[in-house]
Amino acid sequence: MNGTIVMDCVDAACASIRAHSDEILALDQAIGDGDHVINLMRGLEALRAIRTDIEPLALDGALKLAAGKLLSTVGGSSGPLLASLLLGMARATGGLDGDPKGYARMFAAGVEAVQERGRTGTGSKTMMDVLIPVAQRFDELAQDTRGVAQILRELPQEARRGMLATRDMLATKGRASFLGERSLGHIDPGARSSELMIAAVCERIATYSGSAVS
Ligand code: ADP
Ligand code: MG
Repeated sequence: MNGTIVMDCVDAACASIRAHSDEILALDQAIGDGDHVINLMRGLEALRAIRTDIEPLALDGALKLAAGKLLSTVGGSSGPLLASLLLGMARATGGLDGDPKGYARMFAAGVEAVQERGRTGTGSKTMMDVLIPVAQRFDELAQDTRGVAQILRELPQEARRGMLATRDMLATKGRASFLGERSLGHIDPGARSSELMIAAVCERIATYSGSAVS
């Protein structure tokens, strides 16, 4: 893993968010202020604009630079939260040796950083309802020494379950919490965008040969 793969994943995430932009807009208009997809696209495009700075870097440097860029370009709650994800991952890149356990630990460290920043866990109808179960499932699958291909197939399914579960949750964090009971019946936009980005990244990484993932 290195800066080129990071940018490949950014491209994949960006394409998926763009393809679902109307849907994400509608979700955030229903329970937020409608800017979530704009925030995300601004951030992802800002990363694409510094591609030549990110690509030559090792994984930790690439993730750190990307996190800093997101922090300085994306407003709203999601900018600092996604920046924390990348920064938390950047700090946990030591000792990666191609074993999925290392990548599971790296992702979990990112999710913990988001949790510290946003001060919420599962059940409050946010992106955490996708990120936390995916981190847990990643750890389980990696411990089981399943093949990389299977892990990359199963994580998007876990993300989808988490995203769908937000529909019946009462929002207790972020703007949607101002709606109280009226937030019920709507999927959280940040949960949907996180699910889409996780699926896009898994799909992209699955196209590499085993050696590129290590
Ligand atoms: P804002 O709510 O400031 O307009 P965005 O629209 O970009 O920011 O992002 C909204 C998304 O951020 C929500 O759908 C939710 O998933 C996520 N979110 C909000 N607050 C938190 C939090 N404290 N922890 C985790 N995620 C959060
Ligand atoms: Mg918003």
